[in-house]
Amino acid sequence: MLIAANWKMNLDKQSISEFSKFLKNFKFSKKVKACIFPPMTYIDYLNNIIQNIPISVGAQNCHFKFSGAYTGEVSPIFLRDIGCEYVIIGHSERRILNGEDNNEVKLRAQSAIDANLKVILCVGESLIDREKGNAFNFIEKQLHESLPNGFEDSLIAYEPMWSIGTGKIPSISEIEKMHEHIKKIAFDVSDKKINTLYGGSVNIKNIHNILKIKNVDGVLVGGASLKVKDFLAIYTAAVKHLNNSSKVQEIT
Ligand code: PEP
Repeated sequence: MLIAANWKMNLDKQSISEFSKFLKNFKFSKKVKACIFPPMTYIDYLNNIIQNIPISVGAQNCHFKFSGAYTGEVSPIFLRDIGCEYVIIGHSERRILNGEDNNEVKLRAQSAIDANLKVILCVGESLIDREKGNAFNFIEKQLHESLPNGFEDSLIAYEPMWSIGTGKIPSISEIEKMHEHIKKIAFDVSDKKINTLYGGSVNIKNIHNILKIKNVDGVLVGGASLKVKDFLAIYTAAVKHLNNSSKVQEIT
């Protein structure tokens, strides 16, 4: 089980320092892994101040080349170098605002894997596709066009675009069916069981129901992860859920 906190372009150094103070006395469980994705400039800072806390750090994107004339970009090698374990690739905000298409997402994901980072590959349909009944085909195309080689240790985050930051989430059965669909496609491509996260308006109220959904191996949380109390409440819900269920911890 993985609880991933995508801070996007939020929280400055002072806020991160305050946030981290609350982590120091918190008892983390071996069963549930947590990873925080701060802004690039603070990854190293956060990683240093949480040295003795069992939380991983990750980046919100990386470039598809290891080095070269790419002004403003960040190499996956550099991320690895400063202690990142994960990198989010293909988040819908990057697809929409930065024009990253499936081809580019695949290149970035491949580069991250080649640099020994674990990828959280984001996929998700628009509201129009969902309403047209096209969501399953849309996700299938996204996966076929963007899954890199050697994806086995990585994860896929199902993040419907219409759910991100809106407070709206798909029904339990829609999430369950889509995760099943994603796992099947990923298995067909890689011959391995791939872990999937749900992302989109996860909060302290809906987390309990989301974790009960079959095939959900964790969550990618945006807005609610910015408040340390909510982040820890979501984490605690995951620990309680695992203690009460037979779901096996598979994310190492
Ligand atoms: C996200 O952007 O990855 C996300 C899940 O955001 P939110 O939780 O705010 O919907």
